[in-house]
Amino acid sequence: MKKENHIQQKMFQELSSKGIFDKVQSYGYSYLDKALERNVYPNDEALSNLTAFEHELQEESIGAIDVIAQLNDYGSPATVSQIGGRYFGFVNGSSVPTGMAAKQLATFWDQNSGMQVISPIASKLETVVQGWLRKLFNLPASTVAGFVSGTSSANLCGLAAARYRLLKRQGWDINNQGLNNAPPLRIVTGKHAHSTILKAISILGFGKDNIEWVDVDDQGRLVVDAIPELDSKTILILQAGNVNSGAFDPLDAACTKANDANAWVHVDGAFGLWAQAVDNLKHLTKGLEKANSWAVDGHKTLNTPYDCGIALCEDEDALVSALHMTGSYIIIGDERDGMFYTPEMSRRSRVIELWATIRYLGKSGINEMIYGFHERAAQFGREIVATEGFEVLNDVVMNQVIVACATDELTERVNLRIQELRECWVGGASWFGRKIIRVSICSWATTEDDITRSVKSFENALTECKK
Ligand SMILES: *Cc1c(COP(=O)(O)O)cnc(C)c1O
Repeated sequence: MKKENHIQQKMFQELSSKGIFDKVQSYGYSYLDKALERNVYPNDEALSNLTAFEHELQEESIGAIDVIAQLNDYGSPATVSQIGGRYFGFVNGSSVPTGMAAKQLATFWDQNSGMQVISPIASKLETVVQGWLRKLFNLPASTVAGFVSGTSSANLCGLAAARYRLLKRQGWDINNQGLNNAPPLRIVTGKHAHSTILKAISILGFGKDNIEWVDVDDQGRLVVDAIPELDSKTILILQAGNVNSGAFDPLDAACTKANDANAWVHVDGAFGLWAQAVDNLKHLTKGLEKANSWAVDGHKTLNTPYDCGIALCEDEDALVSALHMTGSYIIIGDERDGMFYTPEMSRRSRVIELWATIRYLGKSGINEMIYGFHERAAQFGREIVATEGFEVLNDVVMNQVIVACATDELTERVNLRIQELRECWVGGASWFGRKIIRVSICSWATTEDDITRSVKSFENALTECKK
């Protein structure tokens, strides 16, 4: 007689009946049907119903259908409609349907992309996508890719590689000798560097107080003439895509300076690196290939599902050494072992949906989709400027629009009111001492009508706030 414990029996039953999987499919389909038209942000009822999750963990296993139903009934209404066309918060992006579908298949596969021996398919796709990315971004042939959770992690990896290489050149092995008494490295970056750069600088022990800050112009671009004398002990951190204005540091001139001094250049290109793959935007990333490491997201501009960042480095030995690990049980494959390029050992195979998205779009699809973000951003800029009471504070070079009202107080109230109206969602920030509303266009689903409808919501919010 088969000996199966109770929970095991139950799970075999779930797997063979497919009942929960059918349920998820039908819940998912009805979610998709509403995604483009529903309120962008969950309503108050949905938010207060989240208390339905606040229960003590029960003793007994419950029905699988009940678990899934609870998620659907109370979770779905409390989601933010990221995949629709009117979410303009942060720099987020939607999901290309083929990528979403590939992720579903990948869920069944449940592959660990740590080593080739654990998942030959993940190893193959990582190698293939690495090659595609090299070409799409016009990077040196030696460039390798680590598939990480996002640009926060990719920035950390790039700067860890830089730290390894610059210290090694001075005869210091950071892995064995550590930070104590290590020769100091210099960090030079623009005053508008993203906060995840500062996080990486803290984690790696460089110390934020030691940063040599470079002035920026009115778009947030680092001023090349203000870069201090560089040397081979310096990491210069540049930005391709300012998180507010979308502006690009002058990569070509800054990289040339750094190359001449044998400094390391890391580029934070979370969403902006993709400009390189767009015919009419690639002038923004000129000189990109002269850097040493780059961080970029799939889940922003490319519209892959979340949890998709890429660390790129032209110095394979530096990246792999910085993230090194060993163990007698590790099996080195004939082909790529993904864990040597990432901080993690076990990782889900996020490359599957990245591969599917790029394969589906092709070069011209990527070109067209991303240029579309720029066109919609430009449209938003034109329409909002034509609306009484609003101004645009940046040059719309890519997909970001900075909007402000007459006073800081009004800008903040209008922003809040737009959020309450739920027609679209935008967040706020400060820009050279002024309160602003940030509009980030990076969903494939955003149409001209979505823009006009959202501008109308801005107008309505302002009218109400002025009453
Ligand atoms: C979004 C963003 C990051 C952080 O990326 P995550 O994928 O959220 O970790 C870093 N830098 C810039 C410029 C960004 O826009």
